[in-house]
Amino acid sequence: MLRGPKGTDDILPPESRVWRSLLRLWEDWSERFGYDLTLTPLFEFTEVFARGVGESTDVVQKQMYTFSDKKGRSLTLRPEGTASIVRAYIQAGSPGELKVSYSGAMFRYEQPQAGRRRQFYQVGVEYLGADSAASDAEVIELGYRFLTEARVPGLVVQLNSLGDAQCRPAYLETLKAWLAERQDQLCADSQAAMELNPMRVLDCKVCRDVVADAPVPADFLCDACRGHYAQVRSYLRARNVPFTETPRLVRGLDYYTRTAFEYVATSLDAAQNAVGGGGRYDGLAQVLGGPQTPGVGLALGMDRILLARDSEADEVALDAFVVAQPVARERGLALVSDLRVARVRCDATSGDRSFKAQMKVAQRSFAKYVVMVDESNVVNIRLLSGGQDDIQVDFQEVAAWLIAHQ
Ligand code: AMP
Repeated sequence: MLRGPKGTDDILPPESRVWRSLLRLWEDWSERFGYDLTLTPLFEFTEVFARGVGESTDVVQKQMYTFSDKKGRSLTLRPEGTASIVRAYIQAGSPGELKVSYSGAMFRYEQPQAGRRRQFYQVGVEYLGADSAASDAEVIELGYRFLTEARVPGLVVQLNSLGDAQCRPAYLETLKAWLAERQDQLCADSQAAMELNPMRVLDCKVCRDVVADAPVPADFLCDACRGHYAQVRSYLRARNVPFTETPRLVRGLDYYTRTAFEYVATSLDAAQNAVGGGGRYDGLAQVLGGPQTPGVGLALGMDRILLARDSEADEVALDAFVVAQPVARERGLALVSDLRVARVRCDATSGDRSFKAQMKVAQRSFAKYVVMVDESNVVNIRLLSGGQDDIQVDFQEVAAWLIAHQ
């Protein structure tokens, strides 16, 4: 038997119903906040990610699916969305302010486990060409509103500022010196990260105790970064978005400046409890060869959002299932057609089956109502979950009735 590759998932019904409703919810919220859809390729020249995500990151060093095409060019399956979108923005001539949303599969060669997959699904937004703290707050609010309506239990927004090109160098020097003094207490991974990407060490689960008193970026912010951070917090309060300042929060990707944030589901295992995150990346466009362009964005991991929620596989998938007496079969199918045109989600069996056999299929269909058709002008409508008497509705009124009772 052929199997899917390790670290990938097949999402079939009924589980896929929850995916569909969550993806719709995301489309709804991102559209409500004014983010237009953007589609970029699933693969890019490797350099886009090597430069855009950062040579020193785990993603670039260990996790990319990189291959040569027939002409020997190095291509990589996208491990994240931001670098591609900024590449596309530059290629389109850097068209000023642009708010875009995306959704799709990402690929990272990871050690697979629950909530850590080799192909996983992210949704996200990028707000390009905007440098004000209001844009940071807007992006953070969007993720918070979506995750709240998606009923992620124990949701916490963690917030930090990482400084910028002005103030971060001094911080990194101090941090490196501090870490060098404690080098022998650090794990092998942290020792390797210390020089190239010292902030990663703050994030290391193994070294947590050693770095408990390490210097943090917030203590080194220049006046401009400090002001920006204060404004982000105050805009978030004005928007009623609760957050927790988290001085040790860093992000795995290199290009973040100033604001960094993460959405944590405290209901999940600590190792995989980040359902999403993001931040400001004012340096990224230049790293990719474009003009200096501020930007802020977020990415949310759908696989983890679904893990964090209680399973709801029995979500209603149809408004109605139509069953018909064999003599009224054509009427039944005509009704199905009319209902679909009227925007009612409905279905019926396709083969010729007895009324009883159709009822059995209806029971398993996850429909809300079963609509029973015979030769008379009235149909019987039954709530499939039971507990109610059948309701008689005029044949002509079925669509209106179902829409009113969706
Ligand atoms: P990142 O692009 O690393 O900032 O990740 C953003 C979000 O994507 C994380 O908070 C996770 O929810 C999700 N994510 C990242 N990597 C994986 C993975 N390998 N498997 C599942 N979800 C992931």
